[in-house]
Amino acid sequence: KFKVKQILYDIHRDAANYFHANLINSDSGRHALEYLLKRGLDEAIIKKFGLGYSFPGWDEMKSHLKSKGYSEELLEKAGLIIRGKAGSSFYDRFRDRIMFPITDVMGRVIGFGGRILREANFQPKYLNSPDTVIYNKRQNLYGLNSAKTESNKKGIIIVEGYMDVIALHQKGFTNAVASLGTSLTTEQAKLVKRYTEEVYIAYDSDTAGRSATLRGLDILNEAGLNVKVIEFPKGLDPDDFIRKNGREGFLERINNALPLMDYKIKIFKEGIDLSSPVEKGKYASKIIPHLLKLRNQVEKEGYIRKISNLLGVSEEALRGEIEKYSKKIV
Ligand code: ATP
Ligand code: MN
Ligand code: MN
Ligand code: MN
Repeated sequence: KFKVKQILYDIHRDAANYFHANLINSDSGRHALEYLLKRGLDEAIIKKFGLGYSFPGWDEMKSHLKSKGYSEELLEKAGLIIRGKAGSSFYDRFRDRIMFPITDVMGRVIGFGGRILREANFQPKYLNSPDTVIYNKRQNLYGLNSAKTESNKKGIIIVEGYMDVIALHQKGFTNAVASLGTSLTTEQAKLVKRYTEEVYIAYDSDTAGRSATLRGLDILNEAGLNVKVIEFPKGLDPDDFIRKNGREGFLERINNALPLMDYKIKIFKEGIDLSSPVEKGKYASKIIPHLLKLRNQVEKEGYIRKISNLLGVSEEALRGEIEKYSKKIV
């Protein structure tokens, strides 16, 4: 078992070097390099993240790695090749894509993400390695290997995607990591907790990003982390935002990040008319379960005051409702 793991690490290292050379040193990879440069990346950051390119053919990577002595059986275990219909031959999982090597906290390449160059309806924008003996997507965060050294002081910024991490690192926010689309897991929260107590969620400002933020907040909070939310104008993700507003603009967003409860207080207000007593009641029943999740009693007191002010009701009224809920829940 140990030996297989070591070979899978070797395969991934060789595959990453191969994809990187395709991007940097080949004529057929030039358009891919130009795509990345046009998106604002420079050569230094492309090197730092080891970005690459997979050629369009069906088995170019397979041939290259086989020539280095790896068997098809092992390449399949690595998740890099796929067998078509029974009896047919293996083909490359990643074809004609920008390649993002995924590393573990020790810096070993354990998987890949691949992005198409032109978005099309019939193809997923990103493809990722499947889980393998060395890669478990629920237990890994993209960029953590580079982020971990600075995270202690600055906290960790969690974003959705590869390009968000890279754009932030390029602008000096080297404490950014990505959960890679899937909603944040408790394993990832525990991983973060090894390096810092302070974490920021900076997900895309769209419907999917917002619901992922709400779920992520609770998961991080339950892991005992202090969580804040960084918000962007509608439709933007951290990569879009920092390209438009630069390092200073992003710093301002960090400084205005909302603590978990303030974020919930704010977003639950949307679509509710707080001048109506009926809607005040609805708002209270929506927010109270979240208030009850706060572990720190002093913090909870502060928010009871804040919410009763917001609703224009007495703290006693709010406490009365909280009382009812805590009996229902506990
Ligand atoms: P880009 O800026 O290159 O368009 P993005 O990161 O902004 O990419 P999103 O659509 O916001 O793309 O998705 C966020 C992340 O979710 C991606 O970086 C990727 O990790 C993951 N993801 C997106 N689409 C898919 C998909 N079809 N299959 C698997 N993972 C995906
Ligand atoms: Mn999105
Ligand atoms: Mn995005
Ligand atoms: Mn994006």
